[in-house]
Amino acid sequence: MTTTSAAADAAAVVRALRPRFADRLLTPDDTGFPAARQVWNAAVTRQPSVIARCADAADVRAAVRVAADAGMPLSVRAGGHDWAGRALRDGGLVVDLTGLREVTVDPVRRTATVQGGALATDLIAATAPHGLVTATGVVGSVGLAGLTTVGGYGPLIGRYGLALDNLLGAEVVLADGTTATAGPDDDAELWWALRGGGGNFGVVTKLRYRLHDLPSVLAGMLLFRYPEAGAVLRGYAEIVAGAPDDLTVMTGFLPGPDGRPLVFLCPFWSGTDAAAGERAVARLRSLGHPVVDQVGAMPYAAALRMFDASVVDGNHYLLRSRWLTDLSPDVADALVAGAGAVTSPYSALIVNRFHGAAARVDPGATAFAQRVPHQVVEVIAAWPPGESPDPHRAWADSVAAALDPVALPGGYPNLLGPDDDERARESYAGNLGRLLAAKRRYDPGNVFASAAPALVDVPRQPI
Ligand SMILES: Cc1cc2nc3c(=O)[nH]c(=O)nc-3n(C[C@H](O)[C@H](O)[C@H](O)COP(=O)(O)OP(=O)(O)OC[C@H]3O[C@@H](n4cnc5c(N)ncnc54)[C@H](O)[C@@H]3O)c2cc1C
Repeated sequence: MTTTSAAADAAAVVRALRPRFADRLLTPDDTGFPAARQVWNAAVTRQPSVIARCADAADVRAAVRVAADAGMPLSVRAGGHDWAGRALRDGGLVVDLTGLREVTVDPVRRTATVQGGALATDLIAATAPHGLVTATGVVGSVGLAGLTTVGGYGPLIGRYGLALDNLLGAEVVLADGTTATAGPDDDAELWWALRGGGGNFGVVTKLRYRLHDLPSVLAGMLLFRYPEAGAVLRGYAEIVAGAPDDLTVMTGFLPGPDGRPLVFLCPFWSGTDAAAGERAVARLRSLGHPVVDQVGAMPYAAALRMFDASVVDGNHYLLRSRWLTDLSPDVADALVAGAGAVTSPYSALIVNRFHGAAARVDPGATAFAQRVPHQVVEVIAAWPPGESPDPHRAWADSVAAALDPVALPGGYPNLLGPDDDERARESYAGNLGRLLAAKRRYDPGNVFASAAPALVDVPRQPI
């Protein structure tokens, strides 16, 4: 597409949408455009042509229809936390859902319905007064739809499964601008595909979640000095191998106050037996000499703020991620060496555990296929704007490469990037054929090409 025709397309899209959106339609000439374009990862430089701030599902339908008719690249933006910036496409139209964050809770039926732009923090703030929760990711500012439709690893995974295992139904605006209802008694194929296939089939305008009684969790950070890292990681591997569903522990390395990495353990005990939780935490504590110990009983909403300081908006980020069956001593050594070679005081290594309820779901029951217990390793390179990405990319690549010999095929598509399309498709194993068929059925023109995973090869856009 030439620049002239792209500009002409944008003008036609603006003309078609202006009467409905008025000043909620932003173009690069508008003063509000740069702020509306900003996503969590400031390394993302893509420049969309139009941002359509949707106020309801009818706006979403109109935006999808107009962009598809004009052949304009389309992307969907909610929490803006996809590190690879898939919420933006060069010269594209952004279906902006940041104004659609309403949450309705039914405490009797124990369900919550959220709009397509809602964040984890919105949902948990609404359910907390009822002592109810659902499975979310670990950071409150992440969008629920993007997280849930691809998987949704989180602190309650052992007890309640992935976020997508807690979904009861969804409303989706399809590529032709019509609305479909996905659920066990509605469009069953869309319902299957949506639980793992992400935003590939349409824009999710509503999600309904199952809720659970959980007034508080025993959770918090235990931080140890770097020289204790090997012992802490080996001990962690032993403890989690025999851990009950109620105990999910994250581990990894976070930057310390002097810029040197500290190894962390972050337990989440969601069981009713408080004494058993305290015993599990005591075992974790005894793996070294914690320099910070913040573990205590807290509402789940407070637990979702623990990582806020480490996920600063405005830095430049690049992720590499691998699935591993376990944290063997060799893997522990590789992570310790990787943390020791870190190139930036902002970078981190995070290990998330997949186990318990999530691992008891039949791999064919949802598009998300990897149901054996495993660990997800995130190698997060972060640096301030203005610095060259090269040393940080080289660091992340070398840490990930050291894990390759023992990595499982595939990886969590929400954390994989533009160079990992093949790896993302491998994640679906025996479900891939059915997922590709669903893509052909619901989005034959690949209108939702920027979703994770990339199911159809398209020319890559630089971040
Ligand atoms: C700091 C941080 C913490 C994270 N923690 C976790 C975690 O604990 N567990 C976990 O599983 N993942 C986690 N992730 C990954 C996260 O789930 C994905 O990046 C997710 O896509 C972010 O959604 P978003 O709405 O914030 O992002 P956006 O950048 O706004 O959206 C990303 C993409 O998701 C799709 N999407 C979003 N909303 C919709 C919708 N309503 N309809 C259709 N498609 C939609 C679109 O394809 C969109 O381009 C984390 C990411 C970050 C940066």
